[in-house]
Amino acid sequence: MINSSKPDTRRNARPYLYGQEAAAVAQALESGQYGHTSVTEEFEQRIAEFLGVHDAVAVTSGTAALHTALLAAKAGPGDEVIVPSMTFCATIQAILAVGATPRFIEIDPATLCVDHQLVLEAVTDKTAAVMPVLFGGRPVDLSAIREDLDERGIVVIEDAAHAFGSRHGTRRVGASGTALTCFSFGPIKNLTCGQGGMVIPRTPAEADTIRRTRLLGVVQSQGERANTTSYRVEGFGLRYQLSALNAAIGLVQLDGFQAAEDTRRHLWRTYRDALAPLDGVTLVDVDVDQAVPHLCQVRIAHRDEVFAALRGRDIGVGVHYPPNHTQPAFAAFRRHLPETEQAGEEILSLPFHQHPTEPDIDLVVTSLEQALTSAGGSSGRGRP
Ligand SMILES: *Cc1c(COP(=O)(O)O)cnc(C)c1O
Repeated sequence: MINSSKPDTRRNARPYLYGQEAAAVAQALESGQYGHTSVTEEFEQRIAEFLGVHDAVAVTSGTAALHTALLAAKAGPGDEVIVPSMTFCATIQAILAVGATPRFIEIDPATLCVDHQLVLEAVTDKTAAVMPVLFGGRPVDLSAIREDLDERGIVVIEDAAHAFGSRHGTRRVGASGTALTCFSFGPIKNLTCGQGGMVIPRTPAEADTIRRTRLLGVVQSQGERANTTSYRVEGFGLRYQLSALNAAIGLVQLDGFQAAEDTRRHLWRTYRDALAPLDGVTLVDVDVDQAVPHLCQVRIAHRDEVFAALRGRDIGVGVHYPPNHTQPAFAAFRRHLPETEQAGEEILSLPFHQHPTEPDIDLVVTSLEQALTSAGGSSGRGRP
């Protein structure tokens, strides 16, 4: 059986398989061609169609997507990249990979995302790019500063690892045409390839740079290589092509995605209603009609105690994420970010994964309520 049908409240997140993935991988295996093949190209086309964009470039991971997007934006040594500290460490590592300097900024505590004002305040002569993180699936609207950014040649690279499928107005995230958008198709993302990622470029030139970079800087296609005795290495590159095996999984996932979208929204609304009567619990809100929620997060006092109590009861709570500016590896870029630090102490992610393994929400919420009461003594059902 691919997905156990029992509710799974022990894990914070888990992949959801629709059932045809194994057959699709077997078929790709039998073809004898595992690298970048027509399967990978079909996956790119299908993602582009789904999002309503001209092109999409598949890579091996969300981290590789961010890395190649930064290269396409020509960010490098001496440049600053504006980024929230509240993100997965991959966002920061991608900036360091191109030799640029992360400039950490604050978040809006209500959404855990940056806003245009926070970005604008951090712009300097050295800013090459800004990387908004679409935290939990929330679109980030920088249109108010679009002209400022364009005038200064600052490229927007969206870390949309959480946001596959989310809408911004009438368009899907990735279809704005004003940003390079990076998706992750890692194991627990909204859509999975096992491991994988995708960049939505703004221009054909950006697409070319990313396609060359993911192929070790080589420009020829497989077909060309079969018919010539040499190949051309035209620039820097890494082995970042998405394999046909991973793309085959992604194609099956995309076919089932509508169900995933509906289930995630339904789960999130169910949590919202169940959490509403609890005192001392602030849900990190999301416009669930627009976003495909990736996480269900609350903010609470005594988070560490509550976390330990829930883990003790086998409830798979998590923390997304410890702020990056407090990580030892990024100490050189440390700044004072009180909102982020406070969020880092209060956020708790509740088990959130898809049908038919969706968590037993009553059990999670009841356990949370009990853990809060014993941790702080101040929480419980609200009274009028
Ligand atoms: C998962 C994730 C990434 C990295 O994606 P991988 O596919 O794991 O490399 C980057 N940013 C955020 C916010 C993520 O959640």
